[in-house]
Amino acid sequence: MNLLNQAIAHTLPIVPKPVVGYFSARYISGERLEDAVHTVKKLMDQGACATIDVLGEHITRREESTGYAQQYLGVLDAIVREKLDANISLKPTQMGLKLDRNFCLDTVRGIAQAARERGLFVRIDMEDVTCTDDTFWLYQTLLKEGYPVGVVIQAYLRRTDADLDWLIPLKANLRLCKGIYVEPREHAYKDREIIRMNYLHLLERLLQGGCYTGIATHDEEMVWGATRIIRQLGLPRDRYEFQMLLGVDEELRHIIIQGGHKLRVYVPFGRHWYAYSVRRLKENPAMAGYVLKALFKRRYTNGT
Ligand SMILES: Cc1cc2nc3c(=O)[nH]c(=O)nc-3n(C[C@H](O)[C@H](O)[C@H](O)COP(=O)(O)OP(=O)(O)OC[C@H]3O[C@@H](n4cnc5c(N)ncnc54)[C@H](O)[C@@H]3O)c2cc1C
Repeated sequence: MNLLNQAIAHTLPIVPKPVVGYFSARYISGERLEDAVHTVKKLMDQGACATIDVLGEHITRREESTGYAQQYLGVLDAIVREKLDANISLKPTQMGLKLDRNFCLDTVRGIAQAARERGLFVRIDMEDVTCTDDTFWLYQTLLKEGYPVGVVIQAYLRRTDADLDWLIPLKANLRLCKGIYVEPREHAYKDREIIRMNYLHLLERLLQGGCYTGIATHDEEMVWGATRIIRQLGLPRDRYEFQMLLGVDEELRHIIIQGGHKLRVYVPFGRHWYAYSVRRLKENPAMAGYVLKALFKRRYTNGT
């Protein structure tokens, strides 16, 4: 992230919500399930598949998780009814991980049960480092109980290489990403080049170890490295997939699909879009320009 972007990232909390909403609209399919269904159908026409996410995180009351769980059941029904090539992604703190991990487990189990009955799959997203151990516990518990679940690992975390020592023997279904949360140096590499080297190192271990891997990145060097590993190992198409976020680098998405690889797009929808949107804007290299322009325009059109 360049210096201007870093400065803008720090001021995002004071950027008016409508401005954030305007610039982050491309990352979100809409507020309603129908919006997500429509987006997934369009992606399928382009040769991609999807994972649908109901936006929301860090609930403070148990009742909120019931609402989210109901929405996920609606998503699972829509996937079957509309014949979507899709699965679901959910966040543990949206299901109450920070309130009571056993309560969270029960809620996610209900969703995983519904997914299993419909022949679908549940991806458990990975959040900040205070959630890592409990998220792995959630994942391992559900996996042992026979539910169709997978989890996410983050290349910026120092611990991840050691986590592969237990994940690989499980033949875990994993999404590998760089990691998005701001973590202390004690836990996470800060140097972008080390994170990239670690990403490819972890990916090679996963693919060699026979783990089905979702290669989640928009970094063309990581995509290049991944295709090199895939070719060297002679891996068939059904042993891995690429994954990208909605609204990011559609051209690269098409290139990957044309290269003969499976490509899944993360499709979020819902009313609680703010936290997700801010994370996406912080990663957008063009963000500083957009936000400055919008603030400038607002300042002079509002006369404030
Ligand atoms: C499918 C998917 C699921 C994810 N799930 C998680 C998760 O569970 N936990 C977690 O911590 N992180 C998750 N992430 C986020 C991930 O950790 C990274 O923060 C994010 O993907 C950016 O890293 P990158 O590999 O794309 O590399 P970067 O170096 O950040 O980006 C490479 C290039 O992609 C483009 N780009 C990237 N982001 C944007 C953007 N927002 N807008 C416009 N252009 C952009 C730019 O051209 C940039 O130069 C997920 C990412 C994906 C793709």
